[in-house]
Parts: sequence; structure tokens; C-alpha cells
Amino acid sequence: MIGVLGAGQLGRMLALAGYPLGLRFRFLDAAHEAPVEDLAEFVRADFHDKEALDRFADGLEVVTYEFENVPVDTVERLARRVPVYPPPAALRASQDRLEEKTFFRNLGIPTAPFVPVHSRRELDAALAAFGYPAILKTRRMGYDGKGQHPIRAAAAAEQAWQALGEPAALAAGLDVILEGFVRFDREVSQLAVRGRDGRMAFYPLVENHHAEGMLRLSLAPAPDASPSLTRLARDYAARVLETLDYVGVLAIEFFQRGEELIANEMAPRVHNSGHWTIEGAVTSQFENHLRAVLGLPLGIADVRRACAMLNIIGDFPDTQSVLSHPGAHLHLYGKKPRPGRKIGHITVCAETMEAVRATVEQLRRSTGGGCIQS
Ligand code: AMP
Repeated sequence: MIGVLGAGQLGRMLALAGYPLGLRFRFLDAAHEAPVEDLAEFVRADFHDKEALDRFADGLEVVTYEFENVPVDTVERLARRVPVYPPPAALRASQDRLEEKTFFRNLGIPTAPFVPVHSRRELDAALAAFGYPAILKTRRMGYDGKGQHPIRAAAAAEQAWQALGEPAALAAGLDVILEGFVRFDREVSQLAVRGRDGRMAFYPLVENHHAEGMLRLSLAPAPDASPSLTRLARDYAARVLETLDYVGVLAIEFFQRGEELIANEMAPRVHNSGHWTIEGAVTSQFENHLRAVLGLPLGIADVRRACAMLNIIGDFPDTQSVLSHPGAHLHLYGKKPRPGRKIGHITVCAETMEAVRATVEQLRRSTGGGCIQS
């Protein structure tokens, strides 16, 4: 029995990958509507509810998480009773943009220029140093583009500060950082997995397209990724995995500029840009995460065929028209549609990336509704 903190679509796909291995799952989350509810044991409770955590931990072999904003205290409490992977240190580093970027920098992994900002005066000094545009971000609880504000010119500084700084964030104990703007060619992510025995496996680099801060489309393997870029991404991921004595799947999102990789953030969990691995890799990220946390041998992370993954956002596409493309696979998460909400994804696999791209275009034309548009 595996315990999972968080009960969203990532948890659901973990469970679906675990059933063929004979595993069972128990989830804990306070969410009103949980995509895992109809397929696993579910404890609906707050992450701070100690009594519920004790009930949850009873009889578990291992605990993992599918949500990186689980309180570190919760994970540490559970770790006194049951092994917890990935290690709490990874969770701590990824929850705070300042710690995360400092961690990357200490490992020699490039990042955007960044500086913590505590006052309007410090903001102005940082803007003078970084130039425009720059991005003001909350240190904690930012995801899918939330908790950040671009500053394109000096006149916009006050508005960003009002939105994220003094009144909103600082009062709630949420410090902010200013980041210099990276003029990147594209965004890529590296998924990697490390077992309890220290062995590692690396998925190919993935090219990611975002809109309004949310991932819309991933292409795997990332077209035209040179062997040296691939080596660099794996080297950076290995440094993170080994430094943290990490166990499980880790995702690092990078900006690519020429042959440089600039780390933006990491997620100590299975990741949206790895959903294509269900059909497109020899072993999916979900299966490899479970193998890792259970101390089982890892599976091969190589790609089988060229793939695209399209997030379904806000509304359902027409199932009939999605499945009329024989290379397309539909995944729905059991969530109610709502504007801006990820409720499923489509994976397209083919022999070549050209064929994949052609199918993606056809899908976008034929399904309509805007839920898989860029
Ligand atoms: P984040 O919430 O940090 O993942 O940022 C969401 C998206 O905003 C990224 O995927 C980028 O497209 C963009 N972005 C964030 N930080 C920067 C930066 N320092 N320079 C340029 N673009 C950025």
C-alpha cells in the first residue's frame, strides 16, 4: 500500500501505473473534488490534521507526494513512521523560489539573475541593476504563472509592487524576488529518475509551449536537441539528484538560449511535461516513480516514438473527433470543466515529429472549442 499526498490527476496516473504492479494506493488531500476518489482509498483531510495523518500512515509501505506545496512539517511527521520519497529537502528547496535558485547557483547550474526584495527601495535598486523587462515573483505558492508580475518599464513598478509586494504578499509572510528577464529561444524540461540504490535514468529533453503561464503543448523528444545539449541537461539533473540523495522522478524546467540551459524551476514529482511517457516511453514517468520509491529496479526511459502532449484546458473536446485520429490517446481526469482548469490531455504518437505535428494541427482544427489551442 502506497500513500500519496495530493489527490489530483498526477496521483490518479500514478495509481493507474501502479495497478499492473499489484500495488494499492491511499491518498490524502483536503480537496472537495479529487480525481483519485473513484479508484483508490481516499482520506479527505487537511495536511495539518495530525490525527488524520496518523490514520493515513497506518500500514503504508512508503509515502510519496504528487503536489509540491505539501507542508514540509507534514512530510517530516510522516517520515518518522514511514519512509518518504522524494526526500523532504527536495520539497523544501522547490517550495521557495529564492532557495531553489540559490540551490541551482550553488551547484553551478545557471539561472536568471535574481534577488530577494523587501521594500520598494530595494525593488528600484534591483530594477536598475537588471533592466527591463523584469519579473516580480512571490517566493512561495507560485504555479502555472500565478504569483508573478512582469515589469516592462519603470512606470509599471508601483503597480507590480502593489499587486505582489507590500499589501498582498508581504503581509501574508510571502516574500518576493525580482528576476531578470531571460531572452530564450525555447523552453525545455528534463525529467529524470533516481532509485534508492542511486541508479539514474533520463528521459529525452522535452520542448514545452506555455500560454498564460500554463503548459499547453509538449513535444518529445525536443526537436533538434544536440547531443551536447542533451548531455548538459542530464549533467545538471544528475547534480541535483545526487546532491539531494533524491529518490523518485524529478523535473527541471529550463530556458534554452543557443546551447545554454538556464534553470527556471524544479518539481520533486512526476510532471505535466512527462505525460507523453505513458504511451511514448518504454517506461512511463509514473511507473518509474513507483519503482524508484519502492526500491525496485528502474525501467528504460528511452522514447519509443515521436510524441506530442496537448493539455485539455477548460472544456472537453469531442471524444469522437479526438479518437478519429488513430495515433491519438485521450486522458480525462474525472474533473469538472471550468475555465483555465486542466481536465485532461491528449497524446499523439507517430514515427516522425512531422507526422505528429500534422496530427496536432488536424486535432486543433477538428475538435474546436479552444480547449487544446495554443
Ligand atoms: P514560472 O511560474 O516561474 O514557471 O514562470 C511561468 C512562465 O513565465 C515560464 O514558463 C516562462 O515562460 C515565463 N518566465 C518566468 N520567468 C521568466 C524569466 N526570468 N525570464 C523570461 N521568462 C520567464
